[in-house]
Amino acid sequence: MSLVVTIDGPAGAGKSTVARRLARRLGYRLLDTGAIYRAVALGALRAGVPLDDEPRLAAIASGLDIDFAFEGDVNHVRVGGEDVTAAIRTPEASQAASRVSAWPAVRAALLELQRRLGGQGGVVVEGRDTGTVVFPDAGAKFFLTASDEERARRRQEELEAAGKEVSFAATLAEIRERDSRDASRDVAPMRAAADAVLVDSSALTLDQVIERIEAEVRRRGA
Ligand code: C5P
Repeated sequence: MSLVVTIDGPAGAGKSTVARRLARRLGYRLLDTGAIYRAVALGALRAGVPLDDEPRLAAIASGLDIDFAFEGDVNHVRVGGEDVTAAIRTPEASQAASRVSAWPAVRAALLELQRRLGGQGGVVVEGRDTGTVVFPDAGAKFFLTASDEERARRRQEELEAAGKEVSFAATLAEIRERDSRDASRDVAPMRAAADAVLVDSSALTLDQVIERIEAEVRRRGA
C-alpha cells in the first residue's frame, strides 16, 4: 500500500533527517513543505517585498516554480531552475519563512501545490500542518518533538557543519521565537493532529526514532 506519511513538529526536532531516511527505507518520495515556505521567503527577500505585504507575498507563492531533485543524500531545491538549496537554509531565511507562512493568503496559495506534489501517496511529507491541514486523511501521522535545548544543540551543530559559527544562546532564542510564532498563528498553526503518534526524540538516537516510526508505518500497511 502506498501511504501518505506526515511528520510534523517544531524546528530542529530531526524531521528532515528522519523523513529523508524513512522515505529511502520505504522507497517513498519525500516532500519537504518547509522548503516551499523558505523559497517564498527567499523570493520576497531578494525582491525587497516587505514580509507584511500579504498580497505580494501571496503572488510570489502562486507563481512559485519549484522542483526537488535528489543528488546522493541531498534534496536539492530549485526555484525557476536556480539551485537555492543553501540560500534557503540561512537563519535569515528561516525567520523570514516563519513570517511569510503566517499569512492566510500565502498558505492558501501553497495548499494545492503541496497536495499536487504529495499526489498519489507513496510519500513522506514533513512540515508543521501536513497531518492537520494539508493531508488530513494521511495513512500515518507523526509529531516529532525534542526539548528546546536539545533542538538548539542539534541546529547549532548543523549550522557549524555548514561552516557557520553561531552561539548556542542565539540559536536557542531563534528556535523559540520561530516555534512560538508557528504555534500561535491563526491559520494552520503547528500542532499535532488528534490521530498523530507523538515521538519525543530528546533521549533517542536517530536510528531509534526511525525504527520506531518505520515499525508503525509498516504496521499500517506500507
Ligand atoms: O521545516 P522548516 O524549518 O524548513 O520550515 C521553515 C518555516 O516554514 C517554519 O518555521 C514554518 O513557519 C513554515 N512552515 C509552515 N508549514 C509547513 C512547513 C513549514 O508554516 N508545513
